[in-house]
Amino acid sequence: MYRNAKNVGYYMIGKGALGQLGDVLAPRRQSVHGPAVFFLDHYFNDGCLEAQLPVEKDDLVIYVDTKQEPTTHSVNTYTDQTRSYLDGRPPCALLAFGGGSTMDTCKCVANLLTNPGKAEDYQGWELVKNPAPYKIAVPTLAGTGSESSRTGIICNEAKNLKLGMNSDFTMFDQVLLDPDLTASVPRNQYFYTGIDTYMHCFESLAGSYRNVVVDSLAEKAIDLCKQVFLSADMMREDNRERMMIASFLGGMAAGFVGAVHPVSAGLSMVLHMPHGLANCYALSVEEDIYPVQYREFMNMMERQGIDLPRGICQGLSEAQYDDLYEASIVHEKPLINCLGPDFKKILTKENVIERFKRM
Ligand code: ZN
Repeated sequence: MYRNAKNVGYYMIGKGALGQLGDVLAPRRQSVHGPAVFFLDHYFNDGCLEAQLPVEKDDLVIYVDTKQEPTTHSVNTYTDQTRSYLDGRPPCALLAFGGGSTMDTCKCVANLLTNPGKAEDYQGWELVKNPAPYKIAVPTLAGTGSESSRTGIICNEAKNLKLGMNSDFTMFDQVLLDPDLTASVPRNQYFYTGIDTYMHCFESLAGSYRNVVVDSLAEKAIDLCKQVFLSADMMREDNRERMMIASFLGGMAAGFVGAVHPVSAGLSMVLHMPHGLANCYALSVEEDIYPVQYREFMNMMERQGIDLPRGICQGLSEAQYDDLYEASIVHEKPLINCLGPDFKKILTKENVIERFKRM
């Protein structure tokens, strides 16, 4: 069976593109007479970004707490808030301004507005039955590829499981890429998030589930990441635009990852570590699995003056190490993609725990 692949409907890219958001939104407001719902990363709660947005009197603005990655609980709470504000009116658009956490929150809330039940009912593949309302992504942090991917990742604390709502309905209808929006991101955060693109693209290319379209997108995204992170300044204006395009292509290429993302998911579940940083720690102990990419990644960190303090898993309890192992090894599809069906012979419990202890 061939998969019928969907891409983002429309995208706009360029410095200052945010200024055209009102024009993009206008026909939506004319055709659907309900409010727009704006999801902004709480980093912007000083109001400066909101003042630049085409927010109207009747719209709802939600500041998303991104100290932790989205959880089933947080998504359910934002959904309840949105639903009670809308009070039966159809929203003309849902818009996300932030990084992966804010965009994923927007995507998952949108799915729950048109589908019964709770966030935890839709963690998996093709579980969303009804199309979501129209949504727009405006990334203010580049790298996760959430703006162009078909998943919205959520952490399920009760199940110790980090897994997305994978569905065509999860995808944004419009993406607006304005490199001005990443100018004020702290350097470490810019690196950790940007490098996510590099990671999921090389994981995909090193795996066994492949197709030529995905490979082509992933190769170009990696090429752009190398240009950015091996240059003298990853945050130069032209590099910020390159990084946004790399993230966008990388999100479209997002198919199956490999051995970095499962270990990263363990860190996010048990230590509540942000995704990009967790990826860096994961690759830092997988030099045997990805020797070439490991060296390249170390070069990039050195070139950009980024550090990765050691000892993050020191002093954890046996139970926490068990949870780290379980929350990693549960991701069988990517681990088979990378290491084959006998992956547990390589990633034994002792082997995985030893890797965490080296971080
Ligand atoms: Zn990722």
